[in-house]
Amino acid sequence: MGSKPNVLFGLPPGWDALSKALFGNPDFNSFLHGKDHYVPAQIDYFVGFRPAHGFLKTLPRLKAIFSLGAGVDGFLRDPEFPRHLPVVRFVDETLQREMAQYVTMHALIIHRQQRAFDAAQRESAWRQRMLERPSRELRIGILGMGDIGAVTAERLLLFDFQVFGWSRSRKEIAGVTSYAGQKELGTFLAQCDILVCLLPLTPETEGILNAALFAGLPQGAWVINVARGGHCNEADLLAALDSGQLAGAVLDVFQTEPLPPDSPIWKHPRITVTPHIAGITDPRNAAAFVANCVARAERGEPFANRVDLSKGY
Ligand code: NDP
Repeated sequence: MGSKPNVLFGLPPGWDALSKALFGNPDFNSFLHGKDHYVPAQIDYFVGFRPAHGFLKTLPRLKAIFSLGAGVDGFLRDPEFPRHLPVVRFVDETLQREMAQYVTMHALIIHRQQRAFDAAQRESAWRQRMLERPSRELRIGILGMGDIGAVTAERLLLFDFQVFGWSRSRKEIAGVTSYAGQKELGTFLAQCDILVCLLPLTPETEGILNAALFAGLPQGAWVINVARGGHCNEADLLAALDSGQLAGAVLDVFQTEPLPPDSPIWKHPRITVTPHIAGITDPRNAAAFVANCVARAERGEPFANRVDLSKGY
């Protein structure tokens, strides 16, 4: 293992392109968990997404943890997580733009009623429809106005939508009405024709997309969840769709991933399902992130985007 730092990568299956980009950095020794032989007591840094609970505590020399996801719930939910270590999360402009693009695309599909035209085309039917309202009258609310929420708001404004944001602290973003804290959640929700969830998953936000919240939305609202499956009570969502309180939902994340084949969500006519691909990690940017984090750690410099463990994001 030599004098260079030893970096252990714990990558979910299917992240092969990423592992190729991440390996081969001459400044450190790289080990892929599950493939390479390594000595746990000699590992300095861990890079990954959702390690098995209890795994990190088996690395006694660990100095820092680098998350390849913007959300770190996959780490912090481990009851034995080594909370004394710094955790740095992947904050990346490309990822933010991809996320914003996903949300904007689905907002446009909803606004332009594209699903109805797709259905008409399947019947070879020439069925013209009017827009229900101009885009400047369609109100989109974003739960979570952090790095991704802010870029998403900017993109939605380009299409003339009305944009509202809800976060813990108030924001000053041109063109966006900002609501903050539990007290203002009700006022925020009452104005959302489309609600987008971009919150981190923490004990405070877990299950926030539930029957009470859906009841606070205008009747016929849409929900787009691109944050985490743990935010959404899926039984409540199905009930709100069936009662007509919600017109539809776009879900990229699920309580259980992969979404089990027998889940009623797959076949629901008013739910669009994508397999957790809203934000795609660019392998080159991820490699640069890891190189930068290791170099900073080795020089004893502070990290950018260090997670505040007391807040959980
Ligand atoms: P940030 O940490 O930058 O932003 C989080 C936002 O949520 C902040 O505005 C924060 O408020 C707000 N927030 C947190 N807790 C609360 C609370 N209790 N009440 C009100 N507001 C709260 O995160 P990112 O924008 O980088 O990422 C957001 C999430 O998106 C990630 O955690 C991840 O779960 C998800 N994600 C999903 C991907 C996918 O492919 N589907 C890809 C990437 C990310 P404040 O600003 O006041 O602190």
